[in-house]
This record gives sequence, structure tokens and C-alpha cells, in this order.
Amino acid sequence: MRILAIFAHPDDESFFCAGTLAKLASQGHEVYLVCATRGEQGEIRHPRIDPALYPKGPARGRLRQAELEAACRILGLRPPLFLDYQDSGYPLEVARANPQGFMHQELHQVENLLLTQIAQIRPRLLIGFDPQGYYGHADHIHLHRATLGAFWRAGNRLPDPPAYLLFPVRLAEQVAKTRFDPERFGVSAGSLALRVDVRPYAATIRAALLAHASQVGPEEHFAQVLQDWPGLLEEECFVLGGVRGLVAEDLRALQL
Ligand SMILES: [Zn+2]
Repeated sequence: MRILAIFAHPDDESFFCAGTLAKLASQGHEVYLVCATRGEQGEIRHPRIDPALYPKGPARGRLRQAELEAACRILGLRPPLFLDYQDSGYPLEVARANPQGFMHQELHQVENLLLTQIAQIRPRLLIGFDPQGYYGHADHIHLHRATLGAFWRAGNRLPDPPAYLLFPVRLAEQVAKTRFDPERFGVSAGSLALRVDVRPYAATIRAALLAHASQVGPEEHFAQVLQDWPGLLEEECFVLGGVRGLVAEDLRALQL
């Protein structure tokens, strides 16, 4: 099966569903990744990477593109594809004040670019952002809307449009251990379509995250990352964002 993950910034794939992507790739599925931006506004959190050498904008984007390419190799994904939008920045006040940012770009134009990728890759399964953008990043929410739009519009354009759309999410009880609002950013266990035990892929997830050195920091700080993202190396959860037709046999056949 061909699978297409659609995320907004380098490192989204590794934080939100790296274990599942690695598992799918290890099972022989072709896993592609489209990244809307190169994360040009991301803060540098590694003490040995000098932010002055990679100022926000294209230079930081090039640094983060290289990190994403390394993470994709670790996870067994195809080299990442980019939509060439610009990171809006975070939090929301920063994003709102950046008119060049992805969140301000025309939704139907983003959908069209996604449809071009979908037409070339012909995935059976899409993986993308949930309506809350995992933790509320404006770029994630914008890309959720475009992904959902493209998923349905693909039915008008292609003889074999994607059949399934999955959103990685966190259980409310996990979000409750973080600074984020569990009622908004978490889901109940009964809402889940898939729970993937990613413990066998813990070393791979960890390596992919550390490949995003500018965002995750050095290995000696990884314990803090795990504290900020409880359950990161244990389980990945998904809700069903869309299904074409009524039968979900293909999802069961993935043996996740
Ligand atoms: Zn992101």
C-alpha cells in the first residue's frame, strides 16, 4: 500500500506518528511525506547550534530540511516533498503578524498542491492533522482543512482516490500531563480508530527525533523531551478523519 503523510513542519512527523510510519515502512509499504513548510521560524533549542549561523528564514529552513531528510532515512520513508510555503511561526500572535506565513495562504491553492501530490503518489491512505492541529499550531489547523478538502476532492479527480484519512491524536489522559488543555487537544479512548504499540520502534523514533537536533536538542536532554511528550515512545493513537465508502477492511489488513 502507498501511504502519504501530510504535515506542516520538519519534526511533526517524528513527534506525532514516527513509530507508525516506521512500522508501515518496515512492513514494505511505500511511505511518502509532504511537508508544507521548512520550519523557517522554528526556535533553535540545541546549545551547540548557533542561531546566528541559521537566521530565521531560508537559512533556518535549509537546516531543518536537512534534518527532515535525515529523519526520513531513519524512518524508512521516501525523501520528503515540500509545498514551499513559509512557516507562520508560533504561538498564534506571532503567526497572525506574519502575512507571508502558511496560515494566511489561500486554502484552495493549498488543496490544489496537495491534489497534485496525491495524483502523482496515488496513496490509499492519507495521514494528516486533526481539527485541533495536535496542539493548536495555526499552520497545523490550516493544513488540516486543506488535507480534508483534498481528500474529498480527490474523489472527483482520480479513479483511485485515497480511501482513508487518519489523524494522529493523543489521549486526553496523556494531554492532561502536559501544559495543553486535555479537553481541547485530547480525545477519549472510545474515539480512537487505531492504537499502535510503538515500543518495538522506540529506538527508531528516538533516532528520528534526535535527527531534528535544532528542535529536540542533544541526546543528554532527551529525558526532558520525554517528560514534555508523555507516552512518546510507547503508543501512537489515531482517529478516523475520513473513509470513502463503508468498508474498513484495508485498515484491518495493515495489522497495526
Ligand atoms: Zn508543526
